[in-house]
Amino acid sequence: MRYAEPLVRLISELRKLPGIGPKTAQRLAIFLLGAPEEDVRSLADAIIEAKERITYCSICGNLTDMDPCGICSDPERDRSVICVVEEPKDVLAMERTHEFKGLYHVLNGAISPMDGVGPEDIRIKELIARLKDGPVREVVLATDPNVEGEATAMYISRLVKPLGIRVSRLAHGLPVGGDLEYADEVTLAKALEGRYEL
Ligand SMILES: [Zn+2]
Repeated sequence: MRYAEPLVRLISELRKLPGIGPKTAQRLAIFLLGAPEEDVRSLADAIIEAKERITYCSICGNLTDMDPCGICSDPERDRSVICVVEEPKDVLAMERTHEFKGLYHVLNGAISPMDGVGPEDIRIKELIARLKDGPVREVVLATDPNVEGEATAMYISRLVKPLGIRVSRLAHGLPVGGDLEYADEVTLAKALEGRYEL
């Protein structure tokens, strides 16, 4: 006994999402079938609209609905400091602290030989290009406090230091092995304040 074809298709599409296994996909599909039609349409529309309207900022690589993004085009931001993060969600985490007034650079990943991700696969070239023609005095490396994040920070630091730019790393005290986004605002603000030079 098999589910009807449209349901099988829905389950298989849901399974492509990160963190969704077969059981969760099945549960979500059954939930959607039981939900009011307008809710389901609203979800489908939100997915399509986000996909059509959201793009990557051509300067920092963050997700945005205008290019350059709101942060890059904000005249109040300090253009002499760039905070380097792995993912767009890390920008949100840093912004929640209200302590960082500079610009960002989103790498879209971290160096991970185990997963076949090398330095050329993430936006390191773009970072170096920005540093070469900008007024940047400090690069804050806010990659995740795990093996890949540390390796990425070390790699970038070796490229940036010869440019005569100060390179700093968020202070320890962040949950080791975790994602930046899981750190609460106070911990993250402290890690930023206590950043040390590499
Ligand atoms: Zn931007």
